[in-house]
Amino acid sequence: MHKYNVIKILIILLIVIFTTPAFSQTSHITGHITPLESELLENPITLDCGAIIREIRGRTFSPTDINKINQLCTYAHTNFFRFTNHYGLKVKEPKKSFKWNISFLPIDSSYRNLNDFQYRFKNTFIKPDPNNLFAGYTDANTSYAFVLSEPQRNTFFWMVFVHELWHAHSIFYGVLDSYPGTLNQKVTQDEVYANKFTEFLHLGS
Ligand SMILES: [Zn+2]
Repeated sequence: MHKYNVIKILIILLIVIFTTPAFSQTSHITGHITPLESELLENPITLDCGAIIREIRGRTFSPTDINKINQLCTYAHTNFFRFTNHYGLKVKEPKKSFKWNISFLPIDSSYRNLNDFQYRFKNTFIKPDPNNLFAGYTDANTSYAFVLSEPQRNTFFWMVFVHELWHAHSIFYGVLDSYPGTLNQKVTQDEVYANKFTEFLHLGS
């Protein structure tokens, strides 16, 4: 092969590489875990429990879905104190009125989906393994719970939602912080209680 031709091929290759989608994706934002301006609901939905739905993507939620979510949040919130009493867990400020943000996201391969660990969730504390995708994730730094946007899955969806609400309450009321050990040990302990909590509420685990 002539040297000139090699250079020409290289140049063509470079042009091809720079115009492939992988390179045009540089506009993708890394580590922006909370909804982007364009993803926020125009009218956030404040639930009776104090949580606020900020984002719903992947599926349209019917008024019946929202009602069920509202009921579940109240159910979880009320029973949080019963549960912590039952297990003798420390609630730092029980009088504080609960406030947390919620995003409902699709689980697919799209940019900024619930398992987009390449961009949106790149810097999260816990990482999923590729064979075991996340159905929910609660982030202490931003006070956000991210839950799959699949209300039609009924019992599974309810369980995941309330599981994440446990983490949100535990962080908000200082329960997670009160566990002994390192942050990793605290997170592991909180996972145990999250599972016990959904069982306690007859939602499975
Ligand atoms: Zn969990």
